[in-house]
Amino acid sequence: MKTIGLIGGMSWESTASYYQLINQNIKQQLGGLHSAKLVLVSVDFAEIEALQHLGDWQKTADILSDAAQSLESAGADFFLICTNTMHKVASQVSESVNIPLLHIADATGTQLVTDKMTKIGLLGTKFTMQQGFYKDRLANKFSIDVLVPTKQEQESIHRIIYQELCLGIVNQQSREQYLEIIQNLTLRGAQGIILGCTEIGLLIDKSHTESQLYDTTVIHAQAAVVESLK
Ligand code: GLU
Repeated sequence: MKTIGLIGGMSWESTASYYQLINQNIKQQLGGLHSAKLVLVSVDFAEIEALQHLGDWQKTADILSDAAQSLESAGADFFLICTNTMHKVASQVSESVNIPLLHIADATGTQLVTDKMTKIGLLGTKFTMQQGFYKDRLANKFSIDVLVPTKQEQESIHRIIYQELCLGIVNQQSREQYLEIIQNLTLRGAQGIILGCTEIGLLIDKSHTESQLYDTTVIHAQAAVVESLK
């Protein structure tokens, strides 16, 4: 088994999900007392969030590069950045180490292609929904047409992520808002919905909607297990 490296803490609520999903999956595959070989470096999300909203992405890249180097020194064979948003600086972080990055958009794109999805709705932070680093990768590498919510819908998705989900607050009214936005994207032609923020799975799962959901936390964790057992 290869050792998985995780850069977590963004937020820790979703890193806890990664830890659980990875270990459950390893247990399913190997049985008995097996568990994942894993190294975690967890950052302080308050620092990251402040830098994101100031637009100081270089400083966030420096913090995550330090984390990646710690993972490498601790024996990780490859690593994950446990958030969609921070893949904005994925190439800088990846260049700072000699171990490969398992990119969250690649894991998701691979699953979408397997399922023959060509047009997909994307929910995430405003950074993820508005900027190119995520949507363009899905379009250019996987030929996926990505639909994003309206500006007003993006505002509420973003607010709920930072003011509720990253604090572990799961609210029924917020769930209804998300479900309405999912419905609107479906009416616009989305064949499925990417839960493109690692906390959204805390609020929405397949029991809440008939839309086909792509939970990036689940997909990324599964891809990590596949890679570790290769
Ligand atoms: N975990 C979230 C994501 O997947 C948002 C937190 C962050 O800004 O990193 O994008």
